[in-house]
Amino acid sequence: MSAIVSGSPPTPNGDLHLGHLSGPYSGADIYTRARRLIGEDAEFLVGSDVHQSYLPEKARELGEDVHEVAERFDGEIERVFARLGFTNRQFVRPQQSELHFAFVQEFFERLHKTAKIQARELPSIYCDSCEIHLVDAYLTGTCPHCGNDDCDGNLCEKCAWPNSCVDLIEPRCNLCGGRPRPSSLERLVFPLGEYADDLRRFHRTVAMSPQLEALCDELLAHGLPDIAVTQPMPWGVPATVPGFERQRYYVWAEMVPGYFAALAESLTLRGRTAGEWRDEWNRSDAVQFFGWDNGYFHSLLFPALMTAYDPELRLPAALLTNEFYQLDDLKFSTSRQHAIWGNDFLTVVPADVCRFVLALDRPEHRQTSFSLEKFHAIANDELAGRWQTWLEGVLDRAAASDTGPVPLSPAHSRFVHTLETLAADCLQSYTAASFSTGRSARALVELVARASDFTETQGRSRGDGSGAGEQLRASALTAETTAARLLAQLAAPIMPSFGAALWRALGEAGEPTWDEVKAPPFERAIAPDRSFFSALHVAVDDVRPERDSDSVVAEVGV
Ligand SMILES: [Zn+2]
Ligand SMILES: [Zn+2]
Repeated sequence: MSAIVSGSPPTPNGDLHLGHLSGPYSGADIYTRARRLIGEDAEFLVGSDVHQSYLPEKARELGEDVHEVAERFDGEIERVFARLGFTNRQFVRPQQSELHFAFVQEFFERLHKTAKIQARELPSIYCDSCEIHLVDAYLTGTCPHCGNDDCDGNLCEKCAWPNSCVDLIEPRCNLCGGRPRPSSLERLVFPLGEYADDLRRFHRTVAMSPQLEALCDELLAHGLPDIAVTQPMPWGVPATVPGFERQRYYVWAEMVPGYFAALAESLTLRGRTAGEWRDEWNRSDAVQFFGWDNGYFHSLLFPALMTAYDPELRLPAALLTNEFYQLDDLKFSTSRQHAIWGNDFLTVVPADVCRFVLALDRPEHRQTSFSLEKFHAIANDELAGRWQTWLEGVLDRAAASDTGPVPLSPAHSRFVHTLETLAADCLQSYTAASFSTGRSARALVELVARASDFTETQGRSRGDGSGAGEQLRASALTAETTAARLLAQLAAPIMPSFGAALWRALGEAGEPTWDEVKAPPFERAIAPDRSFFSALHVAVDDVRPERDSDSVVAEVGV
């Protein structure tokens, strides 16, 4: 079985901060690597969500050309993904992809031809001074479902419910600040409610969190809305259905054929043809990672659109969400510069350390918060402290050993058996059904804690070098190197460079692969590089320079 793993496309209206990186992208990369560790095929697909209305808004704010803004931030996002060692073969830029436009246009043309979307006059909200119908980033108001007074058009970030823009309370135009008025406009409309029974069946089979299941239940019980799949936007993929050429396809609905196009592109990069995408999709598990606030799209709108497009298409196997990651207990905010940008952070922090901290602290089922204090505790006390000290000792003794692996004593065998239980837990947390990088990372911490305790206990019986207990010492070293080999395997999805370096230091070849809990073929000839982690001292100024210079300017101004 193979897996098609996706992270919801990031919008190139800014660089990515640690909050973004902790979510769908870390999750998707770790999951992809975990599938490969156990010998399965997995492809991580990701690209730019360039057609969001937030992009022209950002360009307007910066006074720059929208295409140049997209280019610049796509480049920054691509750079941070590469620095973190993400395994995506490419970062799809829709504006440079012929396949993307062709797939999107064919998708909606087919939906129209089969009468799955139809022209209809729908209520809209219109700004007289700007002379446009407002959607998405163009308007803000109070969410009719949860009362969030900073809710944008189409979706509330706080309660994750969709809105129709028209139902926002006290809406205001984000272009001019004025009050828009109710109006109406003919658009192509998808009757999402007609797919309610199909969706209920899908929800019984797909792996998803209890939170997402509850959201789906609430939305289905409330009744699903009609969705306009064309919008009167100045930016996006131009609609090609006759009569709607002046509108653009709704950017969220564009994401469905966007995933198919990204798969087709990745096939061409693997020496296959784009036309094989449908077979590849249907023979694979689609595992989709996205922020909790996008739950409605991935669990309701997308599967319904897929079914409408082609009822034979296999629906996703897993929908894996994350909540918001905070910084010092406050929401990451680009506008207030309350953020640590991935590219700044990776200038002073090795990728594996960053990946481990994000995996351990990932906001999977609740919000979590990053702080430099917590970061230093993990990077220095744990990785550069306990892990490095224990591994150095084990590798030194392995390099000096005359015997190589020997049969284990009964007590040493019991120690290794406890590691097998820990490994099973860790591997389970890497599966889609119970995916949690937090649990996997905590299992690694626990593995090293137990192994260092074991080493410390054995140290007491190491003797005086006179030859007494030699057999037991060789058995203890076999158990310790077994633990180190297991650490290399289980850590590889989260810390790929560390996993591979430790694997090779233990005398194994190539990249870590999962087989069983066993001793590596260590022998005296091995002269490993034993420096995996060193202490880090990251100052606020190293990673948040913009915020500091801004606050200085503000203080001087006051
Ligand atoms: Zn809300
Ligand atoms: Zn306006």
